[in-house]
Amino acid sequence: MKIAVLTSGGDAPGMNPAIRAVVRAAINSGHEIYGVMDGYAGLVSGSFEKMSRKSVSEILDKGGTILGTARLKEFNKPEVRQIAIHNLREEGIEALVVIGGDGTYRGAEALTEMGFPVIGLPGTIDNDLPCTDYTIGFHTALETIVDALDKIRDTSSSHQRCSIVETMGRHCGDLAVSAGLSCGAEFIITPEHPMNKEDIIERLKIHKSEGRRNAIIVITENVCNVHEFAEEITAKSGFACRATVLGYVQRGGSPCAEDRILAGRMGAYAIDLLSQGISGVAVGIQSNKMVHYPFSKVLASKTEPMDEIFELATKIR
Ligand code: ATP
Repeated sequence: MKIAVLTSGGDAPGMNPAIRAVVRAAINSGHEIYGVMDGYAGLVSGSFEKMSRKSVSEILDKGGTILGTARLKEFNKPEVRQIAIHNLREEGIEALVVIGGDGTYRGAEALTEMGFPVIGLPGTIDNDLPCTDYTIGFHTALETIVDALDKIRDTSSSHQRCSIVETMGRHCGDLAVSAGLSCGAEFIITPEHPMNKEDIIERLKIHKSEGRRNAIIVITENVCNVHEFAEEITAKSGFACRATVLGYVQRGGSPCAEDRILAGRMGAYAIDLLSQGISGVAVGIQSNKMVHYPFSKVLASKTEPMDEIFELATKIR
């Protein structure tokens, strides 16, 4: 079978190990494999390149994606997807593996509905995809955040400050919750666990009166303007407060072992599924087992918030 692979949406560390796994597993199973440059945009422009074992040599430890990624808004138009399918068929390609987030899955579902076989792998640092315990990139981003939080704690303590640290995650608090537990953050604020500003300020006043030297607030992006919140804390709590937005640093870097293993398992599993004639599904990991569900089910499901980790962070604070 001729199979193509692409990465789409925001880049995530672990996309390269996932590409490598797809390419090597495909070749080792007797398939031909093509790389598509820059996500769905490359399907539409016909940017295909045949890949060999060597095409994916020495990329396990590289951040980003060697295939490039892009956002192509027009891919929600059937006529644009029709061009993509036409280009794939012209090249003799019979199936596609996409690595990306929920938008990428929407594109994949639409291609599936138009009769083209697609398998999805969850590639995003946000861990915001349902039907999988973890997404490729989450654990590396978590390590990056933990490293940053530990460093910010040093300066916070030296200057007796409160620090607000904003993580990525969009509508999913998993990065903030996991990092908050890992670093003993005094407060964790996420879309699933919203804040009560007044309560936080009151508790900071108590912290100060008890002689504590610092406090860390980890917060998911889009919850509030962290710089304004820092000013409010400074004005009302007795702690000088500074906000740090970690930003794109969270998306880069060499994938950690956990992400490399996950990417390897998922990439190989995708090729196994295609070899068995299964498509139209997204791959996940649940209770350390590989699973797959139709895109329609994944896109209609909700992620499970990390309530247990959040409660634990409170319990052992
Ligand atoms: P991340 O979670 O990192 O942002 P993502 O895959 O969700 O990744 P998006 O930009 O939302 O990133 O989606 C990637 C691409 O998928 C879009 O640029 C677009 O080409 C395609 N896509 C998104 N939504 C749809 C849709 N409803 N129909 C068809 N294609 C879509």
